[in-house]
Amino acid sequence: MTFQNTREFAQQLDSQDELKNYRNEFVFPQHNGKNVVYFTGNSLGLQPKRTKKYVEDVMNDWGNLAVEGHFYAEKPWWDYHERFANPLSQIVGAKPSEITVMNTLTVNLHLLMVSFYNPTATRYKIICEEKAFPSDQYMFQSQVDFHGYKTEDAIVEIKRREGEHNIRLEDIVAKINEVGDELALVLIGGVNYYTGQVFDMKAITEAGHKVGAKVGFDLAHAAGNIELKLHEWNVDFAAWCSYKYMNSGPGNASGCFVHEKHHHSNLPRFAGWWGHNKERRFKMEPQFDPVHGADGWQVSNLPILSLAPYLASAEMFAEVGMEKLIKKRNQLTAYLEFILHEIDAELDGAEFEIITPTNQKERACQLSVFLHGQGRSLFDYLMKNGVITDWREPNVIRLAPAPFYCSYEDMYDFGQILKQGILAK
Ligand SMILES: *Cc1c(COP(=O)(O)O)cnc(C)c1O
Repeated sequence: MTFQNTREFAQQLDSQDELKNYRNEFVFPQHNGKNVVYFTGNSLGLQPKRTKKYVEDVMNDWGNLAVEGHFYAEKPWWDYHERFANPLSQIVGAKPSEITVMNTLTVNLHLLMVSFYNPTATRYKIICEEKAFPSDQYMFQSQVDFHGYKTEDAIVEIKRREGEHNIRLEDIVAKINEVGDELALVLIGGVNYYTGQVFDMKAITEAGHKVGAKVGFDLAHAAGNIELKLHEWNVDFAAWCSYKYMNSGPGNASGCFVHEKHHHSNLPRFAGWWGHNKERRFKMEPQFDPVHGADGWQVSNLPILSLAPYLASAEMFAEVGMEKLIKKRNQLTAYLEFILHEIDAELDGAEFEIITPTNQKERACQLSVFLHGQGRSLFDYLMKNGVITDWREPNVIRLAPAPFYCSYEDMYDFGQILKQGILAK
């Protein structure tokens, strides 16, 4: 499609958008009486209006039923988490039994590493991406330290080549082969949080398995953003937070995937009563008998008030389906990219550079833009003028127009504000 940088053209794309009505299902912060242009759905998604009812239902059940709510609420609390298996399995390409929801992301990755990182004297290395999300870096360091290995030795980072912004698949595969017999685990982000690069999880999983390693993914920036086929790709495990693209609210619960092939295994795990045989959970027996399935990794009884907003959102995603979201995502991001190039060209072309891959297969919602010119002051200008984005050192703003609620006209408005901001310096 040939795009145009005009309001009329953007409005025309909006009028043809099959998801346009969903924009009204979200609560937008206001700027001068108008919805902000919201680019930080990759950090904290907007609040769906229907969420309140899910939370109120739990509050009412708690008030009216108190302890009886565990079994007699309309959505009983004792197996509330099982309601996620269907919608989330569709979103991440899994079987329902491979899904569970609990805790928060880093906690779950630690728990999953208990099962999937079992270093031995000769096979103890972890491959991760260079500049992984800080929480993941701290997690890797503390895990290898806990097992008695040295960070410098046990953690192998895949680097970008000199002068390149993204990591090449061939370099990931080469590194996996190089570490070979010493490799215990490959754990990287499905989508890099900084650049927005999408990794080829199928190829990485295959390469890791070929040398005898386990392979897991941190899907914080992937869940609800890209097409996932975790089961088919034979991924061992994965976890994601739900408050980014999945709009579940600040700090909210995390989803986990454990491949079916591990459900009957003797992998070590840190157990708790909520992972115990469902029929016998309240018999308070001394011997742990795990649920067969990802639910067997559960530990505590669940924070229902935080699951409620996540359920509202998971059902919304299942209602629309990833296919439609991805279709709009591709066009919306392409339009944003077009607008950025147009504005740059109007201003002589040296103001900024998009560091996200241009190739559609290697990118999703997010475009990361390196500001060559004014940097931080331009970011401040955008924020003051109703464009909500975020700033990452040294000079990057991340723009993630979530297809659920962002419009083409938002992209046009952003372009105009950006231009004014650059001219105003
Ligand atoms: C957002 C994000 C996290 C956040 O972890 P929490 O435990 O939910 O605070 C972790 N990893 C990545 C890659 C992220 O993008």
